[in-house]
Amino acid sequence: NDEYEQFDREIEAMGVRIKDADAVKVRDDVFDEVTLMALYKLVHKKLISAIGGPISTGKEANVFYGERDGLGLAIKIYRIQTANFKAMNEYLAGDRRFSSVRGTRKALIFAWTKKEYSNLARAHEVGIPVPEPLAFDRNILLMTFLGEDEVPYPQLRNAAVEDYGAVYGTILDYIKRLYQEARLVHADLSEYNILYHEKPYLIDMGQAVTLDHPRAPAFLIRDVKNLNRYFSRYCDVPDEEEVLRAITGT
Ligand code: ADP
Ligand code: MN
Repeated sequence: NDEYEQFDREIEAMGVRIKDADAVKVRDDVFDEVTLMALYKLVHKKLISAIGGPISTGKEANVFYGERDGLGLAIKIYRIQTANFKAMNEYLAGDRRFSSVRGTRKALIFAWTKKEYSNLARAHEVGIPVPEPLAFDRNILLMTFLGEDEVPYPQLRNAAVEDYGAVYGTILDYIKRLYQEARLVHADLSEYNILYHEKPYLIDMGQAVTLDHPRAPAFLIRDVKNLNRYFSRYCDVPDEEEVLRAITGT
């Protein structure tokens, strides 16, 4: 593991603390050369002062814990060699902000990272509880960490919720404001992409699209179906049509 030791030395030479030596294993396919360059840049700009262990290893991205002067960060790193890069194309092509993105796998992943940053910024601006996006470079997105003592808040599916009806109402209100004020559809809403601590937080917005995306209506219906499927186990939910009317204001 010479390579990782070398990486740790270089990173530490820049004044970044490595908080969890065991995390080295996960660096395997994550810290390729492109990612290292992006990381160096963020460190150089003093946006990261410590890197901790992995929080999540997903299909397209890995999330690490980090810090900037004591502020907890989530460092989301999209893998360049992601399995799902073809599927990303559809979400990009129909979104006017990103419809001109073409070319290599790398270019697409970079656009995707920027897209998640922009989506989170739009949601954050209108006051919806999401991680605040702080910076992005190439395939790395920096955002505020939602959790305590380096432990992320649980996903909704694992959270202890007292009043499901109330939480359902809150999430619907977020979706409505996302639609009417931020002009976005989340497009991957589920009990996995909502964290919960005292209130719900929406996360994972790389695939969220603007309302002019040709598939925005279909994505919204899918989100509502997902939400109703999950919550109907715990509380009464209005039927889909009614929920859609409430969200779109029609
Ligand atoms: P993926 O595309 O892999 O699903 P997500 O954005 O959903 O990526 O993040 C995966 C997991 O990482 C989340 O379920 C959550 O546990 C953790 N996570 C992501 N962002 C944050 C954050 N800002 N604060 C705390 N934990 C986070
Ligand atoms: Mn997710």
